[in-house]
Amino acid sequence: MRLVIIGCGGFIGSHLLDRLLADETVSVRGWDPQVRKITRHLDNPRLRLHRHPVHEPGRQDELRDAVRWADAVINLAAICNPAEYNTHPIEVIRAGFLDVHPLVELCAAERTWLISFSTSEVYGRTLAGYLPGNTYDDPDLYELDEDETPLIMGPVRNQRWTYACAKQMLERYIYAYHHEHGLPFTIVRPLNFFGPRMDYLPGRDGEGVPRVLACFMNALIEGRPLQLVDGGRRHRTIVSIHEAVDALLLMLARPERAQNQFFNIGNRDNEVTIAELADLMRHCYAEITGDPGYRDHPIEVIDGERFYGAGYEDCDRRMPKLDRARTLLGWTPRIGLREILLETMSSYHDQYAKSPTRP
Ligand code: NAD
Ligand code: UDP
Repeated sequence: MRLVIIGCGGFIGSHLLDRLLADETVSVRGWDPQVRKITRHLDNPRLRLHRHPVHEPGRQDELRDAVRWADAVINLAAICNPAEYNTHPIEVIRAGFLDVHPLVELCAAERTWLISFSTSEVYGRTLAGYLPGNTYDDPDLYELDEDETPLIMGPVRNQRWTYACAKQMLERYIYAYHHEHGLPFTIVRPLNFFGPRMDYLPGRDGEGVPRVLACFMNALIEGRPLQLVDGGRRHRTIVSIHEAVDALLLMLARPERAQNQFFNIGNRDNEVTIAELADLMRHCYAEITGDPGYRDHPIEVIDGERFYGAGYEDCDRRMPKLDRARTLLGWTPRIGLREILLETMSSYHDQYAKSPTRP
């Protein structure tokens, strides 16, 4: 199988390469200026890496050649860190839509299957989330169905939604090319993939505010309080990166089932509030370090706008319907949240807590 992967150096890309390159029949041409997470693959003759952005001017011929050569193109490129959505909205819109829309046109011209990673954030906030006094007792008002659920985002001044809007625009652009020019496509909507190499830790190998697991991990390692944004009452469902990659491999193995579909990829059984996640992480870290004191590690509440800046708004609940992935791909995630956290947190502990000084 011949694959083009845009954004192959990121979290999902690195896990995907681990699995794909283990198969000697797979060749990959990848694009990503960041390669720190994939150094172990750099000498693999079946990976041809372009260490520059996919939209770099003057280099579109090599991209066209690759798209023509490929059985499928996987698009992972984006800025997908919530702390950036309201602080660097132009970059977020560029990365999610403007920089990659020519790829859609190329895939359509070559009739190459485009598998594009979108996000569950395209659903925005749930219908239930806008009802005063709602208690989420009607699943029809909050469960996310790929083809039925409306996509509801807040006002333009709430720049949290720049990412979701850019992703939604890319979905619509891909679907339009499918409709008018027969582009074969698959849209993947991930719901909080967790695993080793998810994110940097601020002050060590990156700067800013990473996603929640890395924020909490950093606080545990540094001995600072875990910060619960607006009390940590929002929900997330968390799925293992390994099972998420399984889903993608099933898509690649069954194009006739995966093409021209939208797929939620998440785990309904691993739903937590962020407050519950913080507590579970304290307990897991006590187990990993052998220090029961971490069970009572301090937690503090912080206001969302103070934490993320003006224009922050949160998704209330993300409960995916997964019938499509189950029936078309035969995919059902099984790994429980505790197991996912123990694996992910252990890898962070090994990588960061054991180094006594910051680089
Ligand atoms: P990531 O930030 O770890 O990886 C994205 C990679 O894309 C980075 O290495 C970056 O350098 C690269 N990139 C960005 N713009 C590029 C460009 N123009 N050309 C080439 N490379 C470029 O993110 P991830 O967690 O691996 O997510 C991958 C995709 O899945 C993203 O599109 C993201 O929006 C989507 N997604 C992920 C999650 C999740 O739980 N990880 C959830 C929802 C959506
Ligand atoms: N969050 C938090 N404390 C932190 C970081 C994040 O309470 O230190 C919350 C954030 O407000 C959101 C949830 O955790 O409700 C998930 O945030 P994440 O950054 O993982 O991204 P998202 O799931 O929104 O894409």
